[in-house]
Amino acid sequence: MVLIGVLALQGDFAEHKIKLASLGAETVDIRQFDDLHKPLDGIVLPGGESTVQGKLLNDLSLLEPLREKIIQGLPVLATCAGLILLSEHVENQSKMYLATLPVTVRRNAYGRQLGSFFTHLDFKNIGQVPATFIRAPYISEVRNGVEILSEHHGKIVAVRYQNQIALAYHPEVDNDNSIHSYFLKICQNKE
Ligand code: GLN
Repeated sequence: MVLIGVLALQGDFAEHKIKLASLGAETVDIRQFDDLHKPLDGIVLPGGESTVQGKLLNDLSLLEPLREKIIQGLPVLATCAGLILLSEHVENQSKMYLATLPVTVRRNAYGRQLGSFFTHLDFKNIGQVPATFIRAPYISEVRNGVEILSEHHGKIVAVRYQNQIALAYHPEVDNDNSIHSYFLKICQNKE
């Protein structure tokens, strides 16, 4: 059985848990330092509000231990605000959080009008996937070793870097399991 920690401080962590459970994974909420001591095979950083999540990670002394685990190779699936938390650089912002993913992101990159939308993406090695964007960022720059998994109108919206998968949108809200199954395969060392 695969055990996946889901960061459950703020945002749509419940949807990720439902998705993972439907694929046969066991999940555990990550809310405090001790939760990170469980024998995790992977971790999910959900969407929500990155500034709130980042502050909570800091206040709860979770930021450093989580960063350590990711650097040591724990597989991570980060969506939307989770992508922002992972990024090494956020445009127009000096504050960074986990900073383990060598990319630059632009927050709220689609503006007010197009703040939220639904589309289909061509996803590397998977094919067509539904994609819901909610006040989403996009990745404006990638550095050495980052693999681009999907683009939308020329903007990078999904990447992989070693053990880290990061998406600008919300695969947990659509009726499709392909991204979570792909992630679970990585957690089981099968991808
Ligand atoms: N706009 C949010 C942020 O900057 C991310 C939105 C989301 O996770 N749906 O944190």
